[in-house]
Amino acid sequence: MAKIVCVLYDDPIDGQPKTYARDDLPALSQYPGGQTLPTPSAVDFTPGELLGSVSGELGLRKFLEERGHTLVVTSDKEGPDSVLDKELADAEIVISQPFWPAYLTPERIAKAPNLKLAVTAGIGSDHVDLQSAIEHGITVAEVTYCNSISVAEHVSMMILSLVRNYIPSYQQVIAGGWNIADCVARSYDLEGMHVGTVAAGRIGLAVLKRLKPFDVHLHYTDKHRLPADVEEEYGLTFHESPQDMVPFCDVVTINAPLHPETENLFDEKLLNTMKRGAYLVNTARGKIVDRDAIVRALESGQLAGYAGDVWYPQPAPADHPWRTMPHHGMTPHISGSSLSAQARYAAGTREILESWFDGTPIRDEYLIVQGGQLAGTGAHSYTAK
Ligand code: NDP
Repeated sequence: MAKIVCVLYDDPIDGQPKTYARDDLPALSQYPGGQTLPTPSAVDFTPGELLGSVSGELGLRKFLEERGHTLVVTSDKEGPDSVLDKELADAEIVISQPFWPAYLTPERIAKAPNLKLAVTAGIGSDHVDLQSAIEHGITVAEVTYCNSISVAEHVSMMILSLVRNYIPSYQQVIAGGWNIADCVARSYDLEGMHVGTVAAGRIGLAVLKRLKPFDVHLHYTDKHRLPADVEEEYGLTFHESPQDMVPFCDVVTINAPLHPETENLFDEKLLNTMKRGAYLVNTARGKIVDRDAIVRALESGQLAGYAGDVWYPQPAPADHPWRTMPHHGMTPHISGSSLSAQARYAAGTREILESWFDGTPIRDEYLIVQGGQLAGTGAHSYTAK
């Protein structure tokens, strides 16, 4: 029987909600493009409930315990005395969400001799050292597509919030003020702007689709070019590299995975090739940008605004400079953890676990590493060291 360690974010300060803002979730039939939604044999939770926090347990306890497994759920993941570190000694499976990642470093993997499966309840397995997973024969799987649209909606919201100066205007209201000039002195229309995405995968393309009705000029760069009919339908201009694209853009959104090719991509040099007063939205991973170069670009006016929800490390320390830099619209890492998304990735996690325990193949689109090499989605979108 297996020990499963599930690292989840803390419960709400006042405990799990007793009621919810809405009574149900819209019924979806499939993901855009036709991929099927998660297909576990059953779920033991009500979609729309908070599942991603410790007491939510991703709705997994009944299922795992009925099969005789041991489930340990904790939010305590930092440092050698953390619950995660102690439990790793004999864990077979580690589950965590990118919002509250269980960083599986080479050191931790070396101390986890029984570890065979790392599941990302979400998308983005960069918190697992993939090279070590490859070397130790650990399977890495994530719930591909579960929150891609959730993030695309968040990106669209953040672009509009920055360009239209929404957050400072909201703060005027809260503070009892009515200085319209202060609100509008940094407020523009998105219409007519050039908007580019670094990567046009599930999220990046969904952002482009959502922004098209705003009558903007759409640009993208990606390792692989989109089909010509998609480029034509959405009026997309392709650029060979981020370096080629960003000088044309008023708004840039980053939607690529973090891997050696993208780490620190937005450094001072690249930021200085952007148009003065451009906006940058990053919901992909904090390490894709140079933390301090972003602060300097906002202070100098090179960037008019920066928003996103990904930081490094997570949780971000109280003195992280992005909390206090000017003209930002940061949130904690929430975009992919809406209640809607949680229902999908909890079901997807269960689907992966059912496959694992039943000895049936994990869906190819969920695989990042298997059998000592990048596999499935991982082979397509990631690079090993
Ligand atoms: P996809 O795999 O669908 O898309 C990723 C795209 O990035 C692919 O088109 C891939 O290219 C492209 N890509 C990879 N490397 C590069 C590069 N060096 N330059 C340009 N393009 C590159 O993933 P999603 O769209 O679903 O997710 C993207 C990322 O967003 C995740 O990896 C994760 O880090 C982040 N994310 C954040 C969430 C949040 O809550 N904030 C939630 C979910 C995801 P190709 O396939 O053509 O090789």
